[in-house]
Amino acid sequence: MNSPKTGKTCPVCGSTNIQVSDVERVVDIPLGSSMKFMAVLDKCLDCETEVDFLKINEPKVQSILNQANAATMKILINSLADKSSLSMALIERVFELPSRTMMRWKNGDFSAGALALVRLLFTFPWLAKVAEARFDRNFSDVQLALEGVKATSRLTERLNFSKTFIAQTKTDDSQIAGIFAIKKNNQSEEISLPSSDRNAQFQLEVTPQV
Ligand SMILES: [Zn+2]
Repeated sequence: MNSPKTGKTCPVCGSTNIQVSDVERVVDIPLGSSMKFMAVLDKCLDCETEVDFLKINEPKVQSILNQANAATMKILINSLADKSSLSMALIERVFELPSRTMMRWKNGDFSAGALALVRLLFTFPWLAKVAEARFDRNFSDVQLALEGVKATSRLTERLNFSKTFIAQTKTDDSQIAGIFAIKKNNQSEEISLPSSDRNAQFQLEVTPQV
């Protein structure tokens, strides 16, 4: 194939035989929607290296990320108020933020740390109660234990467990306590620990506590 005369040089083999094409790329935002954009892809026809040789996509990616993060922030703040009864004023009060901080965030003026806090609150709205209790250790543990039972109940439904129970197991050198579940139609002794790793399987001697 003839050189397309792009003025670009392959950083790997030095060839100028570069093919430039537009490809659709997707930016995925945690708890937000994905955004599509057209990116430029350079392909060296001699060594088949495929990259953006001049990094011309980077500003575009950053701009898309900023837009998507701002849209996500607005959606999450609205959702906290609507679904979790966590108003902007309440969040400011329990986390001791200056008044109108949340309105600034909602209008797009926020740091990466602010977005991280809002994502955590969206995922675990009860963290606001912990903050309201001034991060009291006992209150936090009780709240976490209660939420753990609720989460296990949701997992029972979602992952098709037939039983969930709080259990404790002892071996020679370790002692583990936790909330466990048994999958439906599972005749073996395997116990699935309802964790983020759905495939986690443990052989445990289980003593049901409740
Ligand atoms: Zn090359």
